[in-house]
Amino acid sequence: MQSPTDLSRRCAGALLLIFLTSATWGCSRESAELVVYSARNEQLIKPLFDRYQAERGVRIQFITDDAGPLIERLAAEGIHSPADVLITVDAGELWFAAERGLLRPMDPERLGANIPDQLRDPAHRWTGLSVRARTIVYATERVAPEELGTYQGLAEPQWRGRLCLRTSKKVYNQSLVAMLIAQHGEARTEEIVRGWVSNLATDVFSSDTLVMEAMAAGQCDVGIVNTYYFGRLLRDDPSLPLRLFWPDQADQGVHVNVSGAGVTAHAPHAEQAEAFIEWLTMPEAQAEFAAANLEYPANPAVAPDARVAAWGEFRASPMNVARAGELQADAVRLMDRAGYR
Ligand code: FE
Repeated sequence: MQSPTDLSRRCAGALLLIFLTSATWGCSRESAELVVYSARNEQLIKPLFDRYQAERGVRIQFITDDAGPLIERLAAEGIHSPADVLITVDAGELWFAAERGLLRPMDPERLGANIPDQLRDPAHRWTGLSVRARTIVYATERVAPEELGTYQGLAEPQWRGRLCLRTSKKVYNQSLVAMLIAQHGEARTEEIVRGWVSNLATDVFSSDTLVMEAMAAGQCDVGIVNTYYFGRLLRDDPSLPLRLFWPDQADQGVHVNVSGAGVTAHAPHAEQAEAFIEWLTMPEAQAEFAAANLEYPANPAVAPDARVAAWGEFRASPMNVARAGELQADAVRLMDRAGYR
C-alpha cells in the first residue's frame, strides 16, 4: 500500500505533466486508487470507470490522448509514472508498448477464463476487451453482394475508379495489411495493395466516415471500414444506401483488431489494476464496453448489441491480433512502396 504522501506526490507529479501537455485530465483532487492512461475516448470509457467505483469502491483517475503520446509519456515517466493501466484502441499499439517493456505480465488463468487466446498477448502483457471488425462496405445502388468476395478482390480491374480508402497512415490499415502479409506473404500483398491504389476513385480520406460519405454521395462504390463507424452513420441516417459485406469467409476470415488494456510495468497498484482489467472482461462490463461503441464483445459468452447483431454473423480471422504489431513496420514500408498514401 502507498502512504497518502506517496499518492499525493504521484498525483502532483502527474498534474505537473498535464500542465506541460495538452491531454485531458479526468483527475479529481482526491488521491487515486487507480490511474488509467486511455486512448479510448472519454465518453466510451468514463461510464465504466464510474460503474467500477460504484461496485468496487475503487476511484479511477484517467487521462485520454492518442496511444503514441501516452506510450511516450509512460516511457519518459519510467518508474515515477503514476499510471497503473494503459488502454489503446489497436492491438499493434499494445504490442508496441509491451515490446518497449512498458507493460507487465498478468495472470493468464484469470484472463483466459473470459477472453480467447487469439485476442490476447501470448506473453499475457495485454488483453483485448472489444473486437473491431475491419470489413468491406458497398453502395447498394451500384453493387450486388455477389460481386464481392475477398479483400484482395478489391484489387481486380472491375473496381477501377470505384474504390475509396482511408489513408495508410491510420494504424487500422497498417494492421489490415499486416494480416494480409501474414496470410499471403509480402510479394502477393504488395500486388494487392498496388491493385487497390490503381482502383482508387479519389484521394485517400482521413477517416472511415469520410470514406462512407463519399460512397453515399456516389463518388465510389466500395470501401473498407471498421463496422462501428458504419453503425454510427446508420444511427444518424437509417436510409443510408450502404451495406456491410463479410469477406474471406471461405478463407482467412474477416480482419479483426481489438481495443484492449495492460498493466503498466511500474504500476503503483498492480494488483488492483489487474483486478480492474479482469472486471472489464466479465459479462456485464463487456456488454457495456462493446455496446458503447457498437463493437463486438471480446468475451465470446456475451452477445453483441442488437444493432450490431443485425449486421449478421461472420467468421473472424483466427490469427492472433499480436501479429498485427509484429508485422506493422513491414506493412508500413510495403504500403509506401505500393504508393498507398
Ligand atoms: Fe476508430
